[in-house]
Amino acid sequence: MLSYQHAYHAGNFADVHKHLTLYAVIDHLLRKSSPVTYIDTHAGRGHYPLDAEETRRLGEYRDGAERLWKERRRLADDPLLADWLEGLATAQNRQNPKTLGHYPGSPWWLAQRLREQDALQLFELHPGEHDHLNRQGVLNGARHVHGDGLSGLIEALPVTTPRLCVLIDPSYERKAEYGDVADTLLKAMRKARHAVVMVWYPLLPAGRHDALLDALKNGGLRKIWRSELKVASPRREHGMYGSGMLVINPPWGLDQRLADAMAQLAPVLGDACHYRGDWWVPE
Ligand code: SAM
Repeated sequence: MLSYQHAYHAGNFADVHKHLTLYAVIDHLLRKSSPVTYIDTHAGRGHYPLDAEETRRLGEYRDGAERLWKERRRLADDPLLADWLEGLATAQNRQNPKTLGHYPGSPWWLAQRLREQDALQLFELHPGEHDHLNRQGVLNGARHVHGDGLSGLIEALPVTTPRLCVLIDPSYERKAEYGDVADTLLKAMRKARHAVVMVWYPLLPAGRHDALLDALKNGGLRKIWRSELKVASPRREHGMYGSGMLVINPPWGLDQRLADAMAQLAPVLGDACHYRGDWWVPE
């Protein structure tokens, strides 16, 4: 059943939204020296050459990361975008640093910013994708597991560090995944109440993400920040018209930093692009 391969979508607008949010969250966590464990439940390959056959086939990065890359000088007025774009530049080929030839996945964004006192655990269920991940030389000593990230997360709790940060980024190939994510998250938050957790979800005309959002609210979770980037109208689109991220226990100030960055970024992604950040469940 595992047919999804992120290489077909690497660097698209949803990756930009997700990884920029991830970058901002890590930034806030790094302001304190106390150790952090990061858990990435759905890691993917970790790194995507943009000239790979799969990635070229849909070329989604052209309407995502590549637009930002072309406008990087102008976008550098925003401090978060400037840092993120500098991160993206370090992922490029040293022989050809001005060309966007690679797009890094969440394991890379996390591994690049690990300090000696921090830990990173990555889960990937697809054997081929896990093999790719295994071959990455940039993971900075991260522990990576070939297995299910949702049960892996529960088994990993409690962690030994004072702080925990989790990214849950499923492919939602099965409808039931929305419910599985909600159940796992409710269980995980009982074991790690102060964890900062990011959950990505697609905005699709069928509105399946509503079940996930409602389950978290009805399950009693508090402090859920919702960040959504829409690139088209749901009525006109058959496929994904936007990208959503929930951040549970968001660091203070994250909302404003993201809003500032998204205000610069949205027009670059297109005239119809629109960002909204609000509390799904307040404190
Ligand atoms: N987080 C990655 C990034 O930002 O670069 C992208 C992840 S991609 C959207 C989802 C990945 O989850 C796919 O590589 C898929 O093989 C993997 N996957 C699917 N079900 C899984 C599960 N139950 N546990 C762990 N990985 C899973």
